[in-house]
Amino acid sequence: MLLSLCLGVTSIGSFLLANDTVSNNSTPKNPIKVVILLGPPGSGKGTQAVRLTKELGIPHISTGDLFRENISQNTDLGKRAKAFMNEGKLVPDELVLDMLFDRVSRSDCAKGYLLDGFPRTLPQAGALNKHLAADTDLIVLNLDVPDSVIVKRAEGRLTCKVCGNVHNRYFSPPEKEGVCDACQGELIQRPDDRTEVVQERLRVYHEQTQPLVEYYKKKGVLKTVDGTKSPDDVFLSLKAGLKSS
Ligand code: AMP
Repeated sequence: MLLSLCLGVTSIGSFLLANDTVSNNSTPKNPIKVVILLGPPGSGKGTQAVRLTKELGIPHISTGDLFRENISQNTDLGKRAKAFMNEGKLVPDELVLDMLFDRVSRSDCAKGYLLDGFPRTLPQAGALNKHLAADTDLIVLNLDVPDSVIVKRAEGRLTCKVCGNVHNRYFSPPEKEGVCDACQGELIQRPDDRTEVVQERLRVYHEQTQPLVEYYKKKGVLKTVDGTKSPDDVFLSLKAGLKSS
């Protein structure tokens, strides 16, 4: 009697276990991967984002690029964002959040995406947190670059009007002055790369974006990398950061 009772309990146990396994198999956990690239303006986020997204096979979502696209297409959003951008100020959250969440809801972001230039404020980070599913595989890569290096880089930065390729008159000059090596398009200084604008963007960064370093450190998802090294070395450190997450 006691034996059959024990057997009964055991078989109920194995039934439950088997059923658990079945339900896990039928709804497999498949968390999406979200990588946030954090760092001051001009810290190399754009360059590294292109390499990382190739490596990871996920799209590169840059809120700065989304705004620039809107400006070049003369959309309402572009018209509203332009003045803030040209002065080195942040575009207000109500313009950023809808644009960003709309973009990451597209099918190419279903398995994950890399965010470059977002979030830039604690309220933006809070909104993203609410938007992400609890099991999201989130990693924040922080590029550490001092202000003096940023100012020098931005002063020399030349962006291609046509393809967006970036040269630097000090560190990676084009073969022919004023002409993009990649597509022969015209190289220009972005309005927000002018020295006074860069100083303002750095002030805004320290005031509004830097607190995110502590925010993500507390969440245990932050990896900080020395962003003053060569682009190749920075990329290797970022990849190592991704692996150790
Ligand atoms: P970026 O190309 O990331 O340096 O962004 C260029 C400019 O776009 C910034 O200086 C801001 O004016 C605006 N911008 C880009 N992303 C954001 C964001 N997440 N929040 C507010 N403004 C942004």
